[in-house]
Order: sequence, then structure tokens, then C-alpha cells
Amino acid sequence: MFPIDLKSDTVTKPSAEMRRAMCEAEVGDDVYGEDPTVERLEKKGAELLGKEAALYVTSGTQGNLVSLLTHCVRGDGAILGKDSHILQYEGGGLSALGGIIPMEVDDRKSLPSISDLERRLNPKGNVHFVQAKLLCLENTHNRGGGHASSPQEAAERVEWAHSRGLAVHVDGARIFNAAVALGVKPSELVKDADSVQVCLSKALGAPMGSLICASRDFVERARFWRKKVGGGLRQAGIVAAAGLYAFERSIVRLADDHENARLIGEALRKGGLRVFGADRPTNMVYFSTPDEASADRLLAACREKRVIFSKTAPDTFRLVTHLDVSREQALAAAEIIVGEYRTQQ
Ligand SMILES: *Cc1c(COP(=O)(O)O)cnc(C)c1O
Repeated sequence: MFPIDLKSDTVTKPSAEMRRAMCEAEVGDDVYGEDPTVERLEKKGAELLGKEAALYVTSGTQGNLVSLLTHCVRGDGAILGKDSHILQYEGGGLSALGGIIPMEVDDRKSLPSISDLERRLNPKGNVHFVQAKLLCLENTHNRGGGHASSPQEAAERVEWAHSRGLAVHVDGARIFNAAVALGVKPSELVKDADSVQVCLSKALGAPMGSLICASRDFVERARFWRKKVGGGLRQAGIVAAAGLYAFERSIVRLADDHENARLIGEALRKGGLRVFGADRPTNMVYFSTPDEASADRLLAACREKRVIFSKTAPDTFRLVTHLDVSREQALAAAEIIVGEYRTQQ
């Protein structure tokens, strides 16, 4: 039962069957385009996301970086949500390595509004101003509490961007969570988007890896950038096999994670904690205590009882449900958090 680790859905460990699939994977040198397992994974990913082709990369961060480097040249602007993962948690790689200028817009815990986007554009053809080349969207939205944006909401932004001459990149680290929560195909969520990055190492439970899905031409150009940032791997089929295994087994069970997150949220709310539910929640629960001191006490007390979660602000916490947390563990974790909270009051 313990520890119950809810700090992220990245903590999942490969199961015995996943390890077996890795062990038995047929491999080759993928930099030479000779790894059949990587090829199968890329083909499957492209199919699921409704794109022509896909490129296997080491991480979500590398997937976003390589995508942005492929879309933009030095000095181009990329419109990004203030709370987006790309802006908040990727070390500023787009600027450090690509000279791309982030143009922040309020993402309102999901997707920016069309009017905010329109306002963010600089006058065209005026040399004083950075010209936006790309719009980035995030689905589900991590700092938005795991909110799932609908196909319609995404399509409106994509249509707006294309009408203004911008390309669209979707950071879909958890796009499968969004698809399952909304009961739609993942491809519907990224329809007409120019590129999408999906993580295999989050809710799907693979030990590493992401896919960039896009047009064949885009993927071929992205392959050059992947090599430049050191992401060309040799017998990568060993790890790609885990991704293939995850595609087959892990997507359908994401609904269990969402239900477990809902149960935890409900229990914490009943226990008197402030829970911030996303409008269309998935596998995350954000909650807060009245002040910073009580937050630190609660975190330490729960850690002592081997219930682990993370702090995202001085008085705010995030819990993420995943493959390695059962319903019983989810309920037990909620009970411990509420118990410790009450003891402190
Ligand atoms: C985790 C995450 C990433 C980056 O993935 P890594 O594999 O950790 O580099 C990108 N975007 C979002 C929304 C994420 O949650």
C-alpha cells in the first residue's frame, strides 16, 4: 500500500510485462533509420494523432523544443500561455537554443481567448516589432489543474492562427487523458494543428520517450533538429517497445485515474480543504490550506505517513493519479491527508 506517490504521473515503473516487451524488442540503429520497433511506434503514434508521420524523441521537453526549432528561426515570436509548461518548466530552451521570443498571453487555465490572442499580435510589416510565427496550445493544461479542452475549443484557436499566418503546436503531454475524459479520439483534439508532442512517460507509464506527430515534411525537418540537440538514439527500440506496449494497454485505463482523482478531490473537499477543480478534470487535484505554515506542516506530516505529493505554490499542492495508484490507495491517501489536516486545526 505505501508509499503512495502522487507527486506526478511520471513516477510509474515499467511492469513485468512491459519489461518483457522491451527485452524482446527487435532493434537496429535508429539514426540510420534501421530500428523496426521505433518505426512501428512512430507509425502507431501518427495514426492515433491523425498525422502523416511521427518522430520518437527522448522527452516531452525535447519534443517541444525540437518542434519549436522546426517551426521558427531566430527572432521569430511564439505565442505561449503564461502558465504553459513550455514557458514555466522547460528552462527557456526555446530562447536559449533557438533564439525564439516568447510572447506571453493569459491562458486562463486552459486555452487563451481569441480576443487576447488577437491583442497579442504586433502590427505586421513594422520592423519595430517581433513577428509571431507560432501559437502553442497545451492540452490537458497542467497548471490549469489538468483541464481538458474540447475539439471545438482547440479548432477555433487553430483556425484563428492559420487565418493570421501562424502555425500551431500542441503540447499534448497528456492528450490521451483529455481524449478519454471527453470521450473523443485524440486525433479530433489536434485536427489541423501543425505539430503535436505527446508523452509516453506520463500517464501511459513508459519509462521514457515522446512523439512529435506532424506532416511528413515537418518530421523530416525535425529529424535534423533532433540530431543537433543530441536526441538521435541508436537501438532505441528497447525503449520504444515500452511505448508501443503502453499504446496498447494504457490508454483505455486512464478513466480509472480520472475516477481516482475525482474521489480524492471529493474526500478532500468534504474534509474542509479548498480544492480547485478544473472545469473538465482529468488525473489531477490541486488543493490548498489556509496559509503557508499549515501547508508545510501538512506536507511534512503526510510524508511521514508515506503519502507523497508536490507543492506548486506556498500554500498550494498538486496530486496526480496514475497507473501505479489503485483506488484503495487513492482513498487511503485522501483519508490520511484529511486526518492530518484535521489534527492540525
Ligand atoms: C511533463 C510535461 C512536459 C515535458 O515532458 P518531460 O518528458 O518531463 O520533458 C511538457 N508539457 C507538459 C504539459 C508536461 O506536463
